[in-house]
Amino acid sequence: WKRLTQGLTRTASGLSSGITDLFTKRKLDADTLEDLEDVLIRADLGVETSTRIAEAVGKGRYDKSIEPDEVRALVADEIEAVLRPVAHPLVFAADIKPFVLLMVGVNGSGKTTTIGKLASTLKAQGKKVVLAAGDTFRAAAIEQLKVWAERTGASIVARAPGADAAGVAFDGLQQARAEGADVLIIDTAGRLQNRAELMAELEKIVRVIKKQDPTAPHAVVLTLDATVGQNALQQVEAFKRVAGVTGLVMTKLDGTARGGILVAIAARHSLPVHLIGVGEGIDDLQPFEARDFARAIVG
Ligand code: GDP
Repeated sequence: WKRLTQGLTRTASGLSSGITDLFTKRKLDADTLEDLEDVLIRADLGVETSTRIAEAVGKGRYDKSIEPDEVRALVADEIEAVLRPVAHPLVFAADIKPFVLLMVGVNGSGKTTTIGKLASTLKAQGKKVVLAAGDTFRAAAIEQLKVWAERTGASIVARAPGADAAGVAFDGLQQARAEGADVLIIDTAGRLQNRAELMAELEKIVRVIKKQDPTAPHAVVLTLDATVGQNALQQVEAFKRVAGVTGLVMTKLDGTARGGILVAIAARHSLPVHLIGVGEGIDDLQPFEARDFARAIVG
């Protein structure tokens, strides 16, 4: 959490100092609450949520002086209340074998890295993992996944760049079954700029998998880069439509992150948030904890 707290400092310092500036030697009234709402909106929390939080902070406290620390605590409580319902671990049901996880997200959002981290975690739990290099569009993505497979001891199924992604997914499932693997993780292309093509490709992957196992994929997880701020909201909307996302991972929360956007996403989409990425290393994947995250955002 140290890295997360450090990473979220940009959001946090904005929020934290904003609140300090607002409530030092000023009482809580309609004006200060409106300013508080602005501070929250600037931290990417979304207009609706910001309004609601400012209202909650004001309730029963009008025309009274209040310490910035108290405001921060109240805001953190409200943020936690938004995040708590969406904080769900990613569960790889042991009775489903292989458990098929489809990873989606725009290029650069941390998809491949997250797959590597997940493979490492699963391996440490003694699970057998197969990776399928379904981002056949980029040669580098295939290579990168191979490196992760080697590093984690997972099996990998890959074809040459340009190959049919659904074919790779099919081979992946065959291989996972043949090996008696517990989990199959399928990487996918992230060309959101060509939405029709991406949709067709993801649909075909799902169709091909379902033919072999009608219950699969058992999870469709979207990676979101925290540093893109408001853009993340659009990515959620797009991938929900294109891929039927079942849960989220937010990456790069160690950088100059703008984690406030996760609050807006939680308020609007109520999609489970499983994990957060706090670095490029193999161990830099952590469960999403509403309370800690809320406090890290507020600072
Ligand atoms: P993909 O294109 O979605 O597969 O994205 P990659 O997994 O290749 O990640 C893109 C870049 O972001 C790489 O340089 C990763 O090392 C980096 N990255 C991924 N996750 C994190 C994270 O949680 N923190 C930081 N700082 N970098 C990350």
